[in-house]
Amino acid sequence: MAGFFRYAFLIVDAEAKSILIIEDEPDMAMGLKDALQFEGYRVVTESQGEDGIIASRRHRPHCIILDLMLPDLNGYKVCEEIRAFNPTVPIIMLTARSQEADKLRGFDSGADDYVTKPFSVAELLARISAVFRRVDAAASASDAQVLTLGDVKVDLRSQTATDGGRVQQLGFYEVEILRYLAEREGSPVSRDDILDRVWGIEASPTNRTVDNFIVKLRRKLEKNPNDPRHILTVYGQGYKLVT
Ligand code: CA
Repeated sequence: MAGFFRYAFLIVDAEAKSILIIEDEPDMAMGLKDALQFEGYRVVTESQGEDGIIASRRHRPHCIILDLMLPDLNGYKVCEEIRAFNPTVPIIMLTARSQEADKLRGFDSGADDYVTKPFSVAELLARISAVFRRVDAAASASDAQVLTLGDVKVDLRSQTATDGGRVQQLGFYEVEILRYLAEREGSPVSRDDILDRVWGIEASPTNRTVDNFIVKLRRKLEKNPNDPRHILTVYGQGYKLVT
């Protein structure tokens, strides 16, 4: 019964959402396209980085799945180029590599999530579904969308952090983690709770993923990221937001 509800939910959730796949391996691209279309998404595929950048301008997809190793440009470069004109579209990077350094570089180039090949299609679908659930929830949220952290004002709707005249763009997961911490302001939130809430229980990113995003958030929002005043580590428990 649970399976039925999950299936029905995905169909509703996927309605009218479009996804751009930038992937040069034909079998992988076709397999993903079939699976995503089966879930009800509209899908566009490109096999080259440059073509992917053009398609992301033309089609304005709701989510982009981006392979790291492409024939013409690498995925980091493609990600940066897309970010230059579309700071908010969720980008999930695919790669055969699993080294932590590559993941960090992916996040630095503007990727929101990272899936290491080989991965199950079910896992990728779960992550995409989680992304869209959060996007939809954020769009319909009527609560306060601005947080004040010292001199920094964070607008959760426009995904920007403003400090004096300096405006920084925040990534999708950065905003969602911050939103969750803000809901529980002053109380510690465990990494597992953050993973469940932001990524969805079906996805399987590691606790380390949460830590990476906390590092990024502190770099953007804290005066001294090594001595944070707002995004605090609570030893043995998780993280806590103090405004
Ligand atoms: Ca490839």
